Amino acid sequence: MELTDLNLQQLQEQLAQGSVSSVDATRAYLDRITATNDNYNTYITVCEAEALAMAEAADKRISAGDAAPLTGIPLAVKDIFNTEGVKTTAGSRILGDFVSPYDATAVARLKQQGAVLLGKLNMDEFAMGSSNENSAYGPAKNPWDTERVPGGSSGGSAACVAARQAVATLGTDTGGSIRQPASHCGVVGLKPTYGRVSRYGVIAYASSLDQVGPVARTVSDCALLLQGVAGYDTADSTSVDRPVEDYLADLQGGVKGMRIGLPQEYFIDGLDPEVQQAVEKAIETYRGLGAEIVPVNLPHTDYAVACYYLIATAEASSNLARYEGVRFGRRVDNGKGLIEMFCSSRAEGFGPEVKRRIMLGTYALSSGYYDAYYLKAQKVRTLIRQDFNNAFDQVDLLLTPVAPTPAFKLGEKVNDPLQMYLSDIFTIPLNLAGTCGMSVPCGLTGEKLPVGMQLIGKPFAEATLLRAAYAYEQAGEWQQLRPE
Ligand code: GLN
Repeated sequence: MELTDLNLQQLQEQLAQGSVSSVDATRAYLDRITATNDNYNTYITVCEAEALAMAEAADKRISAGDAAPLTGIPLAVKDIFNTEGVKTTAGSRILGDFVSPYDATAVARLKQQGAVLLGKLNMDEFAMGSSNENSAYGPAKNPWDTERVPGGSSGGSAACVAARQAVATLGTDTGGSIRQPASHCGVVGLKPTYGRVSRYGVIAYASSLDQVGPVARTVSDCALLLQGVAGYDTADSTSVDRPVEDYLADLQGGVKGMRIGLPQEYFIDGLDPEVQQAVEKAIETYRGLGAEIVPVNLPHTDYAVACYYLIATAEASSNLARYEGVRFGRRVDNGKGLIEMFCSSRAEGFGPEVKRRIMLGTYALSSGYYDAYYLKAQKVRTLIRQDFNNAFDQVDLLLTPVAPTPAFKLGEKVNDPLQMYLSDIFTIPLNLAGTCGMSVPCGLTGEKLPVGMQLIGKPFAEATLLRAAYAYEQAGEWQQLRPE
């Protein structure tokens, strides 16, 4: 057994017993990254010297009897989190030379606990994408089949966990960016309720939808990492001042008597048969564990993708206006004046998908079209949220597929944005509703590609979500899936 085989909980125990040091674990991960990163292209930046220094400090802290739950654990974060003194690109050329002057709150919390930061992970540019192919640094690859996408936009975060290049990672999820890659890479990913984790210092894509969350090998590891970053932050006015539950306390409580809803609109034609089979098997497992399975309806599901691509692009067009080559972003100046400089900086700095979205969003917000598009989308968003509220009057949780298909081939959808957008059909509605959800591995296809199921919880019911996921993980046959 190699050190990189230990999951978070196991490493935590070994560190506490003193049978392993954080420096040894960190070295093992750095070696593994060196040996495999050309293959997977998961890390944009590796923080070797910093990581070893953090590991040494962690070992001292552990021997002094002053360890926090994440002390000494080698983690990595999506390259959308500001990390003091370290390059933070958001997968974009326009931030290619940007070194953050400060830490995002989530990163600061990890550091306060003495976690080790191995580096920054590949992603679709500004988190716009479902395949990682929109990264300016080349796509991360799926460790189950390197000709396939790892999913996106937190593709690096999921592939890194699957490839054992970090114990666990942080990603962000605006329309599925944690859950869809977790599903495609056979790992566990959780999108918390909007406001549960601070977004301070996370480069903004669509501010009313973005949320930070963990990606890990097991449900318990996911719970541990969420515990480490969740909570109110005065620096983020949208974070919610509400106590953080103890996510591990009730993890083993089981699902007996829990009511799990199956939204009829999510089991549709076009769903890959192997995905459907795997999810149906999971439903049977839950039935066997004593949960009550109830059909429910989310009648406005059909409008979610259109609604999302208006709201998300509108917010993006506004958020990305700051990259003009003066205060933010790489400057391209050919001496022809200010306007020309703005234009060339943006033209050269942004990739095609980001430009497409800025144009879509600017259009949706422009006078004359605002009412027809943006305002209408906001009204539809309310209806979608009400759908979830109504469903949660009847059930404790919802269960659905995460994505309509397993990981697709690199290049397969990149020239067809609409097909790409549709791959998020089951994940997007939660972001519009603001509620929490997670992806849990529930099978492998004939081609040995992982399939995930999505569990959806009430707002701030992450503990229930994790408890249900844990019950399945322990009962199912898909614990700690790992590519050969
Ligand atoms: N794939 C979706 C998009 O491109 C979601 C991305 C995300 O959650 N960041 O917008």
